[in-house]
Amino acid sequence: MSQSFDILVIGGGPAGIAAAVRGAESGVATGIVDDNATLGGQIWRRAPTENAAQQAAEWHERLQKAKVSVLCGTRVFDQAEPGLLLAERDNDMLQLAYRKLVLATGARERFLPFPGWTLPNVMGAGGLQAMVKAGLPIRGKRVIVAGTGPLLLAVATYLRKHGAEIPIICEQASWSRLARFGLTLLTDRQKAAQARQLKRDLAGVHFAANAWPVAAHGQNAVESVTIMRNGNSEEIACDYLACGFHLVPNTELAALLSCQIRGGFVHVDDLQRTTLSNVFCAGEPTSIGGLELSLTEGEIAGLVASNRVQEAQRLFPARKKWRRFARRLNRTFSLRDELRGLASPDTIVCRCEDVPHSRLREHNGWRAAKLHTRCGMGPCQGRICGPATEFLFRWNPDSVRPPVFPVRVSSLAAMPRTNESERTNFEEANR
Ligand SMILES: Cc1cc2nc3c(=O)[nH]c(=O)nc-3n(C[C@H](O)[C@H](O)[C@H](O)COP(=O)(O)OP(=O)(O)OC[C@H]3O[C@@H](n4cnc5c(N)ncnc54)[C@H](O)[C@@H]3O)c2cc1C
Repeated sequence: MSQSFDILVIGGGPAGIAAAVRGAESGVATGIVDDNATLGGQIWRRAPTENAAQQAAEWHERLQKAKVSVLCGTRVFDQAEPGLLLAERDNDMLQLAYRKLVLATGARERFLPFPGWTLPNVMGAGGLQAMVKAGLPIRGKRVIVAGTGPLLLAVATYLRKHGAEIPIICEQASWSRLARFGLTLLTDRQKAAQARQLKRDLAGVHFAANAWPVAAHGQNAVESVTIMRNGNSEEIACDYLACGFHLVPNTELAALLSCQIRGGFVHVDDLQRTTLSNVFCAGEPTSIGGLELSLTEGEIAGLVASNRVQEAQRLFPARKKWRRFARRLNRTFSLRDELRGLASPDTIVCRCEDVPHSRLREHNGWRAAKLHTRCGMGPCQGRICGPATEFLFRWNPDSVRPPVFPVRVSSLAAMPRTNESERTNFEEANR
């Protein structure tokens, strides 16, 4: 099956929806692809708050009015040739042709290994929230929320509203960093209001800064967690540990297309253009900055892709403001050095291939570790252990090879043969 679009957007979160709406409003054939059953991305798929639900509904309405073709349950895994992407949906393989492409593939949680992190019921904070949204009963369960980043507060609020007991939220950032960040929030009305709301929602929940999990314990599932708090350790009983260390951008598809990646993010110019002239990028692959930045970048990308540069330029001041916020966010929640020492020699780092820390530290880079241990070669293709080893061992991530997601054998067979010398040139350019 094949379809073609003037503007094709990959990723149906806020950035992708905004890009598709702004592109399609000028009357060009626009499509949006997302691998989930419904659009909305991490925050709007089943919106966690009333405000979010209303904002999401408004954008969905605009999407329908603008007659955007929506392809949900569709995952892009390779590029057959420039201008032609390959995707899987149910049992079909799709060919998606485009004149202009907007990548809005979002971000995922960063996980760091520590003893016991592979026990059942130790989950990503956003992951547990997603499971509760999908129906996992959480009422009456004790959930420790730990790691770093504002997502922890959003998740704790959500779980509490659904009946969970939150004995503690452990945030690895220091009080001084959090206080500085809090002060900057006061300069923005919207963010200050959100912060006040979170404070009300979490009233009575113990919040500990300078605190992080060092071990999870249990027989068949997690039963308690040892946390380090201000230099002292203590064990706290729980039914779940919801744990994530901020977010990492999903840059794999951009890298596969040969867009330049700088400092871990997709490099874009003022007009959200990547280093490929007809490929744009918006939202979390360009920087981790929250909903407003994703929306604004998405709008700019959609407007520029439909040749409305002047309208896009009017959004530059807003983007500047949210980018400043993103920089503060990332400074505040940058990881402390102590976290590099959490894993013990037998702690599994690559869960897909069961590779412990002791086997990885024998190597001097990601590629050597992959070749000798199969780290990063399982179903997640390094999405979990890649960012962890980047932090633990300061390894640079390797190049990306197709397919960017696991696919059926029939789809593999239909993939174009890779020109090895082209791919090697690309790898050298991005090293
Ligand atoms: C797990 C998680 C939970 C979060 N929960 C909250 C929350 O409760 N509150 C909050 O304020 N913020 C939350 N955030 C942060 C929020 O996602 C961002 O602030 C922002 O909304 C990101 O928007 P985006 O459009 O850039 O990306 P996203 O919303 O992540 O959207 C990207 C979409 O692209 C899809 N995609 C990626 N690659 C492909 C591909 N190859 N083919 C097809 N589709 C693809 C993804 O599945 C996803 O649906 C969460 C983030 C994460 C990672």
